[in-house]
Amino acid sequence: MDVEATPANRSQEVESTRTMIDRVEHQRDLKPRRLVGDTAYGTAALLGWMVEQKHIEPHVSVWDKTTRKDNTFSRSEFIWNEQANEYRCPAGNALRSDWRPFRNPRTHVTKADTIVYRASQMDCDGCSMKDRCCPNTQFRKVVRSVHEAARDEARRIAATPEYKQSRRQRKKVEMLFAHLKRILKLDRLRLRGPSGAHDEFLMAATAQNLRRMAKWLTPEGKQTPIASGHSAVSSLQVYSTPARTRRRAPPSPRTWAGVEQTSRRSA
Ligand code: SF4
Repeated sequence: MDVEATPANRSQEVESTRTMIDRVEHQRDLKPRRLVGDTAYGTAALLGWMVEQKHIEPHVSVWDKTTRKDNTFSRSEFIWNEQANEYRCPAGNALRSDWRPFRNPRTHVTKADTIVYRASQMDCDGCSMKDRCCPNTQFRKVVRSVHEAARDEARRIAATPEYKQSRRQRKKVEMLFAHLKRILKLDRLRLRGPSGAHDEFLMAATAQNLRRMAKWLTPEGKQTPIASGHSAVSSLQVYSTPARTRRRAPPSPRTWAGVEQTSRRSA
């Protein structure tokens, strides 16, 4: 349904999701109910955009590096209290972002779109769990993303049967990419630049969709040369024949097609 070519850079590939979803919504008045992808799509910023702005269910794994491996308390062991805007540590003490009132109220949001919650040094000094909590610092800090509510929503969805179903459906979409590369020989692009990649990949995806539609419409064993996907594939080959061969690695195209089946790479 749509293609957005980007340089082979993960962050730009992920950002192209926004471009494609916005464009399809604008041009075709279609918006997905859910978005399925791998952990690359589980960044706080993208989850926040999906949940808070677009109201799309994020069926993706959350990008989470808060689990500690040195046997000290991870962030998941601190309990969040939305009303009080504070965490409670395993000893039951509060971690807050503002321990004193400011004349001009502050948001406490950092450049990384996070808010740092700090424990009281008085609490930590006399705490019997300090060695398991913050052995090398005077008090414990917990960093919370401003999009943490969206991350929590993704974690909640990850525990549902619908999430498992989405994972199974995602495999089918990924198979289409494997088919494009191996059968339609799209492992290398011939046209230069993002716009060449866009055109070439759009043609390949169109050929693939026509081929699938022909198979779907034609009863088993009654395919005609016109109705089969071969004609579409041939037109693709003619289209991509120009002698301008590329030497550099091609931009990585990403497509998004289908309201129901969305993923990092869907056709
Ligand atoms: S060290 Fe401080 S933050 Fe950690 S459990 Fe003890 S009181 Fe709580």
